[in-house]
Amino acid sequence: MTTDGARDRVVVVGTGLAGLRAAERLRELGFTGEIIMIGEERRRPYHRPALSKQLLTGKLQADDLAFATYSELDCGWRPGTRVLQLDPKNRVLMLPGREELTYDGLIIASGVQPRHLPGVPRHDPRIHVLRTVEDAEAIKANLAKTKGRVVVIGTGFTGCELASSLREMKREVTLIGRGSTLLGGVLGEELGMMMNELHLANGVDLELGAKPVSWHATPEHIALALADGRLLTASCVVLAVGSVPNTEWLAAADIDTVDGVLCEATCHVAGIDDVVAAGDVARWPNLRFTETARRCEHWLNAIEMGRAAAENLMAGRDFARPFVPIPRFWSEQHGKRVQGAGIPALAETSFYASGDRSPRSKPTVAYFRDGVQIAVVCVDQPRAMLILTEKLTAQLPVPAIAGAAPQPRLRPRAANW
Ligand SMILES: Cc1cc2nc3c(=O)[nH]c(=O)nc-3n(C[C@H](O)[C@H](O)[C@H](O)COP(=O)(O)OP(=O)(O)OC[C@H]3O[C@@H](n4cnc5c(N)ncnc54)[C@H](O)[C@@H]3O)c2cc1C
Repeated sequence: MTTDGARDRVVVVGTGLAGLRAAERLRELGFTGEIIMIGEERRRPYHRPALSKQLLTGKLQADDLAFATYSELDCGWRPGTRVLQLDPKNRVLMLPGREELTYDGLIIASGVQPRHLPGVPRHDPRIHVLRTVEDAEAIKANLAKTKGRVVVIGTGFTGCELASSLREMKREVTLIGRGSTLLGGVLGEELGMMMNELHLANGVDLELGAKPVSWHATPEHIALALADGRLLTASCVVLAVGSVPNTEWLAAADIDTVDGVLCEATCHVAGIDDVVAAGDVARWPNLRFTETARRCEHWLNAIEMGRAAAENLMAGRDFARPFVPIPRFWSEQHGKRVQGAGIPALAETSFYASGDRSPRSKPTVAYFRDGVQIAVVCVDQPRAMLILTEKLTAQLPVPAIAGAAPQPRLRPRAANW
């Protein structure tokens, strides 16, 4: 706690969506103390999903992506500032220039960064990743200079959306993945087969079950040798092979950061009273589904978890409520909108409840584990999705766990609330 006369201070590390929504929730709850938002990026918080969609295709410009609420929060903003270290025992953050910043409450929302592949000539300007506006602008600049083929490595959401946007821009695209289906690891083989058909029908060349084993950069192009001996050439390559949580700054803090910041069900960082985490960086057990802690890299989760983390920081660990959402997500590819609820990746079985794998179909796929439906995914059926999400929510009740309404913990003096 702060000394007499001083305002309580909550520091948010990471000015992405989760950090922003957490700060908003603190204000909604009546927190009148100091909020300091520290972010490595220089930009205002912005809409990341547009990077692979509207920004790449030129429908939106970088300045269109900023969130409106930025200036209304009465926060101290520290853009372009990387937090270097956390000392949770003394509640101190180390900033550049040997600056030490104390806090009463800390919200970790430092997100993820793109994973790299070994052996890739990373510093070649024709090799890209996609996480920030600057990444997207660099890809656009590369595309503007060349007409040749683009190779996208990785068949998750980002890779598939990139391939779709590139085809919209009339570029030749090869999508390379290790598995046999696009998005198969996330949405299962049933829908994965449909995604294969959808991308093929829209002119994407698929190299599935393939692995680049060596790279050669020449002035004309980047050449990739695949494990089967074939050589692909590209004027631009984008790696979309997953992400790594931004936890380097927590290395000395005695926090479990194996695949993200390990949290309790309430978003409290495991074993620590006054630190919570939210968004892509957080790994927590969603008790509605499982006691195994896992991360959830979706837009709506960053919003909901940011808000829940703020509520539970205010409530205090003893009064905090478990964060038990039905995860929801969407993706846009070749004019189709894929929407999901639940955790398809946990399923043992799945089947088409309606429609089929043809690219013109508008299917619904249901996912089951231990005989219980745990997820549903629809293609181009926004209304049905609303109803099916409600049904799923009712079928997966919140387990009865102790917890109480948020109580003011950080501010013992009424004047601050
Ligand atoms: C190209 C793309 C498309 C996407 N499309 C969709 C979609 O269609 N649907 C969907 O559901 N989801 C989508 N997502 C996922 C969604 O955008 C993320 O889940 C969400 O933005 C995560 O927000 P976050 O606040 O947790 O993390 P981030 O937005 O990554 O924010 C974390 C911030 O913390 C900063 N940071 C990191 N370390 C430090 C440090 N030490 N000090 C200070 N600051 C630090 C980072 O620079 C970053 O600004 C997409 C993501 C990408 C990249």
